Parts: sequence; C-alpha cells; structure tokens
Amino acid sequence: MKVNYAGTVPISTLDWRGKAAVTIFLQGCPLRCPYCQNHPYLEEPCNIVELNFVKEQIKKSKPFVSAVVFSGGEPLMQAAVVPLAEFVKEIGLAIGIHTNGCYPEMARELVERKLVDKFFIDIKAPRIIPDFTEKLWAAENTKTSKKLLKRSLHLS
Ligand code: SF4
Repeated sequence: MKVNYAGTVPISTLDWRGKAAVTIFLQGCPLRCPYCQNHPYLEEPCNIVELNFVKEQIKKSKPFVSAVVFSGGEPLMQAAVVPLAEFVKEIGLAIGIHTNGCYPEMARELVERKLVDKFFIDIKAPRIIPDFTEKLWAAENTKTSKKLLKRSLHLS
C-alpha cells in the first residue's frame, strides 16, 4: 500500500501533551483554511512512498518515544492510516490522530478496532464568517465525529 507522505518529526513533545511522540505528517486535506500552518502539505504534487518507508520512520524513533501521532494535512483521508495504526499497536506504542472531523467512518473503524488512543479534533474556521464554526459543528459528519470522540475518550 502507498502513503501520500509529507514528513516526520522524529521526537516531538508538542503534538501530544505529556508524551514524547514521533509525528508523521500525511499529505493532503479536503479543506483550505487560510491560516493553515501546514499549507505546503495540502498541495500537489503528491509525495507517494511505500507503507514500509513510514514504518521505518516510526521504528527509528521507537526507543525514544511512547506514542505516534498522525497529523497532516488530514490523516484520516488516507486508507493507509489503518495498516499504519495496526503496526503502531503491534510495536506497543500509543496512537494519537490529529483530525478535522471530516472522515467519521474512518474514525469509527479505528475506534471500533481499538486502533486509536486519542483523537485531537480541531475544527477550524475563518473568524470573518462568525457563524461558520457553528454551522460546521451542526454538520452531520462532524456530529458523528464528536460522538466517536466521546466514545474514544471513554475507551482510553
Ligand atoms: S483542516 Fe487543518 S490541515 Fe486542513 S487546511 Fe485546515 S488547518 Fe490545514
């Protein structure tokens, strides 16, 4: 399986408060928030790598971290996040996922299979459209993601 890969931070203490984590950034996002701090990760061209390449990045950091964080971009838009999460569980690290909540079915699969320990759900919206955030939270997908988030919090 291939991964649309953006980069790795081998040891991060910022992406999961209280944990040292290796952070894997996955390329691509369905949104275009104007203030996105990872704007280069949204655009083409894609940087397609083999799944094993990403596993190797995680393995290199394993002696120094207790968790893997998948970030982006939007990690849940890639099917590869499932086998990557399986791999992370196999090697005994915790899994955190930064997500904008647009892919509740993928989130559901990870929760139901106990392949995620924590979601960091970050609904982003421009301040210049005051009711945008409210509308976004009212969207069915996001409501589903919130329910899943609550369930995952009860699991961890
Ligand atoms: S949802 Fe996140 S990754 Fe996607 S454009 Fe917005 S800030 Fe960037």
